[in-house]
Amino acid sequence: MKLASASDLVLPGYALRVIDALESAGYEAWAVGGWVRDSLRGAEGHDVDVTTAALWQQTEAVLTAAGIEVHETGTAHGTVTVVVDGEPVEVTTYRTEGAYSDFRHPDEVHFVTDVREDLARRDFTVNAMAFHPERGLLDPYGGRDDLRAGVIRAVGEPEQRFREDALRVLRAVRFACRLGYAIEPATQAALVTCAPELSEIASERIGQEMEGIVETGRVDWALLHETDVLVAAIPEIGAMRGFDQRSPYHAYDVLEHSARVCRAVEEFQGGLATPELRWAALLHDIGKPATFMTDATGRGHFFGHPKVGAEMAETIMRRLALPTDLVRRVRILVRMHDHTVYPTPRSIRRTLRKFELVCPGHAARLTWELLDLKRADAVSKVPSAARYAVELDRVSEALRRELERKPPLNVRDLAVDGGDVMRETGMAPGPGVGLLLDTLLTAVINDELPNEREALLRELRWPGCQ
Ligand code: ATP
Ligand code: MG
Repeated sequence: MKLASASDLVLPGYALRVIDALESAGYEAWAVGGWVRDSLRGAEGHDVDVTTAALWQQTEAVLTAAGIEVHETGTAHGTVTVVVDGEPVEVTTYRTEGAYSDFRHPDEVHFVTDVREDLARRDFTVNAMAFHPERGLLDPYGGRDDLRAGVIRAVGEPEQRFREDALRVLRAVRFACRLGYAIEPATQAALVTCAPELSEIASERIGQEMEGIVETGRVDWALLHETDVLVAAIPEIGAMRGFDQRSPYHAYDVLEHSARVCRAVEEFQGGLATPELRWAALLHDIGKPATFMTDATGRGHFFGHPKVGAEMAETIMRRLALPTDLVRRVRILVRMHDHTVYPTPRSIRRTLRKFELVCPGHAARLTWELLDLKRADAVSKVPSAARYAVELDRVSEALRRELERKPPLNVRDLAVDGGDVMRETGMAPGPGVGLLLDTLLTAVINDELPNEREALLRELRWPGCQ
């Protein structure tokens, strides 16, 4: 890959102000980490982290005197966050780290005076470069060469580095996915050896990294090439590996099928699939191993796997402390992935209503996503199953037409309301009113009644409703 030359790197003005203020007061300071990596790659917009010889109290004193706002965000580790022109910059004292006996936090950090010692504690060579507008690039571990070659390589002895902090195992996979890089062989071997140590890491931190991996749109690569790491992060994935489906519809084991579905949803969505669709693709068949049975002919079946899978997806995602809205959407997509949708207004409306009940206001988006999930599923089985994707095109067309008509999906969309119900039936306020509106909505969705005020009022006056 062609890289920018270090002399072409231009630090944003707000970060320069921080570095200048520190250096004018006699404290060496550099931009470091992700900003240096991404600027050399020509990818702009990364936040700037600054590393400095000043202790955090000195940083605070110098920058406050320069009129810069300072927040004590992580002083135990030597970090303050400063805000210049509305832009936050993290400023951290040069430091090394002691052992990580709890696998989470270094037992102690030591503040040091040499920036090279600070770079040595960083995880990967591409993240262990520092840049200064006059002194240029400081790159003691060959990060620039690894960027050019597209390689993620641990700084120092890989196994030792992963044992210090097992989260680096997932960070390696996240950066490889995000940048589309390979993992250097010794680093890869250590990843596999150390992956089980992820069990010692707090699940919400695993969740953050997994979210980062899924967000890259390349989780299919991770699933196939870093299976041990993903299984360590989400143990339920282990049962998908090598799971022979014994079915004439499936050419792949559950793991490879899932990876292909992940890739296909990206293709259908131009690489911009939403987080819920990405997670649903990853987890849609997670319930298969648990529901597997063979019939008298030896053929495999997975009755109820969408229901079991939806529950498992929820359990996994809650454990990883992922956002509640995301969990709810993934759960319903997994639950619905085998649900047959016909290209008829009624089938479309019933599907929309199922999503509306669970995720009010998001029915249309989720139904579109369901169709892409089903399409991806169809093209990831045996070639003959891909024909169903053509049928799904007709369903998409029917969905587009039905959405143009703005069908009622919620009792609020009905041409009558609770007041009408009480007036026409003499019912007192209470849950019964809502139930009656629900019944009307179901009848409208099923084409048994039009959504017209007069027709609905007439229905309410009907003796069966009184
Ligand atoms: P991102 O774009 O994902 O934020 P980043 O490089 O800024 O990428 P951060 O997690 O924000 O990554 O961390 C900033 C820098 O701190 C990294 O570039 C790396 O040098 C160092 N770092 C972060 N976490 C670790 C870790 N667990 N072990 C070693 N070094 C780390
Ligand atoms: Mg960062």
